[in-house]
Amino acid sequence: SQTHAAAIDHGKLQTSDGVPILLSINVNDPSEIDGIGATTTAGIGLMRSEFAVRSLADAANEDKQFQIYRRALEWAGGEPVTIRMLDIGGDKPLSGLDDGTGAMGMRGIRLLLARPEIARVQARALLRAAPFGNLRVLLPMVTFPSEIDDMRQIFAQEAELLLHRKIAHRIPQIGMMVEVPAAALMLDTFDNAEFFSFGTNDLAQYLAASARDGSDIRDYRDKAAAAVLRLIAQTMALSAGKPVSICGDMAGNPSFLPALLAAGLRHFSVAPAQRPAIGSALVGLNADGTRAAGD
Ligand code: PEP
Ligand code: MG
Repeated sequence: SQTHAAAIDHGKLQTSDGVPILLSINVNDPSEIDGIGATTTAGIGLMRSEFAVRSLADAANEDKQFQIYRRALEWAGGEPVTIRMLDIGGDKPLSGLDDGTGAMGMRGIRLLLARPEIARVQARALLRAAPFGNLRVLLPMVTFPSEIDDMRQIFAQEAELLLHRKIAHRIPQIGMMVEVPAAALMLDTFDNAEFFSFGTNDLAQYLAASARDGSDIRDYRDKAAAAVLRLIAQTMALSAGKPVSICGDMAGNPSFLPALLAAGLRHFSVAPAQRPAIGSALVGLNADGTRAAGD
């Protein structure tokens, strides 16, 4: 409808009762943005950098990464671009980096801190890209605040190095995925995170003790949705007024939107193909998750 077409401008929508909502996109392959008008989305809510860094050679290639990140920032024209640092391991193996310990083992930020030479290359590429737009760096699989401190130290040291080399750079905002239950329950202790993003794919897997790639136990994860929603609602109260979004697959399923709105979420990041359906569903709901009168 006309209202919907107008409302989707820059991914800035309103619920039926006039509460502002942001709708942004998840990007896997970096070339996906080529077919998408930047003015139709509130930037990129999640760029999975595993799709930009597909080999050990890519992981060591600062310039290649820098070009990819800069391109996304220029495309977004000042809207926020959330680039997640490498989430290798578990369902996202990368041979030569991944130690094969799976979803409960060395993955995400754990792996980055165990292989700091990989994290340092990515940090430099991100630091150099930051002046080209509004960059938010998202850390995957964070369990404890100390992991964010350690990564911030890497950014500070690499920024120092770039300064010595007289290479333009900027320290970006740094936030975290909320996808490990222990981190969700303790969210108020993460003073060092500037923003939060719920990863319901991993939250569901860990809450229901059912692997996300196990098709024979899919039912367990689906039935765990109520538990995930309850944890999200309780976690929102611990977010200290910082920006919070949701980028897991539950955000792209219209049936969960009433509960997510009721929990207080106002920023949804979904796969590009799901954006129209989620946009029209959101404008037909009130901010408390109830259906708009006459809708
Ligand atoms: C998630 O875990 O919900 C998420 C968004 O990240 P990924 O699917 O890449 O693990
Ligand atoms: Mg995840």
